Amino acid sequence: MFEYAPAPESRAVVDINPSYGLFIDGAFVDPADGASFKTINPASEEVLSEIAEAGPADVDRAVAAARAAYDKVWSRMPGRDRAKYLYRIARIIQERGRELAVLESLDNGKPIRESRDVDIPLVAAHFFYYAGWADKLAHAGFGPAPKPLGVAAQVIPWNFPLLMLAWKIAPALAAGNTVVLKPAETTPLTALLFAEICQQADLPPGVVNIVTGAGETGRALVEHDGVDKIAFTGSTEVGKAIARAVAGSRKKVTLELGGKAANVIFEDAPIDQAVEGIVNGIFFNQGHVCCAGSRLLVQESVYEPVLASLKRRMARLRVGDPLDKNTDIGAINSAAQLERIRALSDIGGEEGAERWSPPCELPDNGFWFAPTIFTGVTQAHRIAREEIFGPVLSVLTFRTPAEAVEKANNTPYGLSAGVWTDKGSRILWMADRLRAGVVWANTFNKFDPSSPFGGYKESGYGREGGRHGLEAYLDV
Ligand code: NAD
Repeated sequence: MFEYAPAPESRAVVDINPSYGLFIDGAFVDPADGASFKTINPASEEVLSEIAEAGPADVDRAVAAARAAYDKVWSRMPGRDRAKYLYRIARIIQERGRELAVLESLDNGKPIRESRDVDIPLVAAHFFYYAGWADKLAHAGFGPAPKPLGVAAQVIPWNFPLLMLAWKIAPALAAGNTVVLKPAETTPLTALLFAEICQQADLPPGVVNIVTGAGETGRALVEHDGVDKIAFTGSTEVGKAIARAVAGSRKKVTLELGGKAANVIFEDAPIDQAVEGIVNGIFFNQGHVCCAGSRLLVQESVYEPVLASLKRRMARLRVGDPLDKNTDIGAINSAAQLERIRALSDIGGEEGAERWSPPCELPDNGFWFAPTIFTGVTQAHRIAREEIFGPVLSVLTFRTPAEAVEKANNTPYGLSAGVWTDKGSRILWMADRLRAGVVWANTFNKFDPSSPFGGYKESGYGREGGRHGLEAYLDV
């Protein structure tokens, strides 16, 4: 193990208020019944702030504000003027990037290296990208004058708090909709800082409204009669409940749900690069990634060298303080998520798979899980079928490309997949056959605002990102 001196990023750059209200009609307001909940730092269990919990009356108020802003201001504003606001927001995100990155790592537990180099730059990139579309909707291929839908209800999870907000809000505003967004209950802080950024950008009141709270707040929002569009990212279970609740209504819905991606390593793959891709695929963001490469499929002939190299690499991963720039794996986002990861991993052991983690010291406070692999996994094992949403990899083998495809597709999900091979023709052959919304070739977890992202099967429907991402917010 290499030893490094700790290199923590300073917290002094962020000011966290002791409490936050709801962001409705351009101002922070108290919830009608005064309810609140705490948000904590998962790396230390320190309480960071007290957050307002929105009830049905508050959701009513937020939807009414979004409706008024839609009718009176935003839907009437020329696209080139909407673009100016989006560019302004994008630039402020860049200017306040360090503050946003530190706050994201504090509230979520993800390493600062990732929030600083991946999350926040991508957030700004999404706003820049969709700002560019705002005055070009007539050229997006959806007819000469595509109309917005109205008020969008947006509910997001905790794994990429600000990035999921950007994926939702940037295309919605560019297309001329107004929004009410509910962040996840464990990670509300960057959404609330984003609300301040909307104020700083002079965004007209009511165009963006942020209501904080847990599942009940989300339910009140998506079931509200006043919303025209629902965009949900989260678990397949809640996604199904939402689809049932709005069936038969006029609301347009997009669902980005869970995943269980296969990362397929052929014998002609460059092993060192593939091992980096495996590590990135499952240990990036503690494995709290819907498109994580959580099922490794290795061709039998290279199983031994791939496994040996993977274990060597895993022994070098540093788990600990998310604000330390040396950290590779930060804290698990909540006690509840840690419990789910533990329970499913224990079942993996009971079902006969062999469990391995490198020796690693975990901090005493906070929520931590060592990077873990299971070998000897079969398709029938629950760890191979169910989404663990943590730093846990199931390793399976295959002999032929056809068997790799059959195993990769043997899942209720269909969000993403990785293919590692030296042959371009094999990449195309695999990509044609894998039932996944995204297939990465000789890389993994690459995101760009211009490319659409979304699932097949129980991973949901609709696409976010790119030109396709506009379609979800237009009446086409
Ligand atoms: P979750 O479904 O429990 O929660 C997601 C959000 O929905 C939270 O804001 C939550 O408060 C809210 N919510 C809960 N119950 C609700 C209800 N009945 N009605 C409306 N809203 C409700 O999911 P989670 O455990 O927080 O997030 C992890 C899941 O998200 C994983 O399954 C992951 O794969 C998925 N995810 C998918 C994508 C994607 O793009 N496909 C991206 C990130 C995460």
